[in-house]
Amino acid sequence: MSRPATTVTREDYERREGETLAPYAARSAETQGRVHPEPEHAYRTAYQRDRDRVVHSTAFRRLEYKTQVFLTHEGDHFRTRLTHTLEVAQIARTLARALDLNEDLTEAAALAHDLGHTPFGHSGEEALQELMKDHGGFEHNRHGVRIVDTLEHPYPGFRGLNLTYEVRECIAKHATGYDHPAPAEFGSGPPPLEGQIVELADSIAYDSHDLDDALAMGIMEAEALADLDIFRQAAADFAKSLADLSLDQRIRRIAKLLIDLMVTDAITTSAEAIRAAGVGSVEDVRRADRRLIGLSAALEPKVRELETLLLAQVYGHKRVAPKMTEAKRLVARLFEAYRADPTRLPPNYRRRVGEEGLERIICDYVAGMTDRFAQAEYRRLCDM
Ligand code: MG
Repeated sequence: MSRPATTVTREDYERREGETLAPYAARSAETQGRVHPEPEHAYRTAYQRDRDRVVHSTAFRRLEYKTQVFLTHEGDHFRTRLTHTLEVAQIARTLARALDLNEDLTEAAALAHDLGHTPFGHSGEEALQELMKDHGGFEHNRHGVRIVDTLEHPYPGFRGLNLTYEVRECIAKHATGYDHPAPAEFGSGPPPLEGQIVELADSIAYDSHDLDDALAMGIMEAEALADLDIFRQAAADFAKSLADLSLDQRIRRIAKLLIDLMVTDAITTSAEAIRAAGVGSVEDVRRADRRLIGLSAALEPKVRELETLLLAQVYGHKRVAPKMTEAKRLVARLFEAYRADPTRLPPNYRRRVGEEGLERIICDYVAGMTDRFAQAEYRRLCDM
């Protein structure tokens, strides 16, 4: 049966969100809003607009040339921050849809979750943490909020992307093993469930893709993996699709299947936790004494076991660890080169030194660099 062509306006979409999402989902019509008031868009909800603003930002484009784990010169087919971010967004959207949550807020938060990362992955971050410890510190989630609030400035009337409170809250509260508390503005409770989903999707993505990259690089032994509980479980869960494969083929296949295994577990576990907590609104979620999105008590320790092995065999591998030490030294020397002669900073950064202090401005500049730009600056300023 055909129906006449029609358009879906923002108001229609907000109505759909109101009628179809779970009561504890974030609704774009109920956002706590933007710092600088703006008229609403005719067709896009507040969260859809935020997602688009993130994708159009300079910091987002630079993710393409920032290291995830394996420095970019190792090969063009390893994950970068950008492809990691896209994998997180795709996993997070599946979780959000299955749990009846706001897919647009989830996507916006996922695409923004790593904007605050430095060049050279965690080595770059460690270098800046040391350099900034007497100057207000450095932490990538806080820096992510600073990027979207201040450093990006596409609009003539104000600085920043002027994102909604909820997207900023999800960036600020994004917590993994490496992270720290959010600024007081966002309160101390958990983020909305959409933000909690991004945290879990982040670890699901890197557990699986770091393993996949390590296998492709040939720095992880198939035999060591076959002994892990999570591989045994996957081998049993997916026995049919793994029949007739060699050990190496099975391991490569299971590395991919782990995403499905973890996502499926997370959906049932989280749905149960949400029911048990009896939350009826986003405010209830923020008031809860724990995060409600997560893996089951049965799967969690198996995933930790895999992460421990990755930490020892991949991040500590002799082809990876020395490169990380080298990158850390490069960032530190680059920072010192700007401190020794601030006229080396571009004018639009130099202009803000009086307001914010030299170290913070150097930190902003260096943190924003891609790996290859940092290397070029290093050659220009330090490697003479
Ligand atoms: Mg991440």
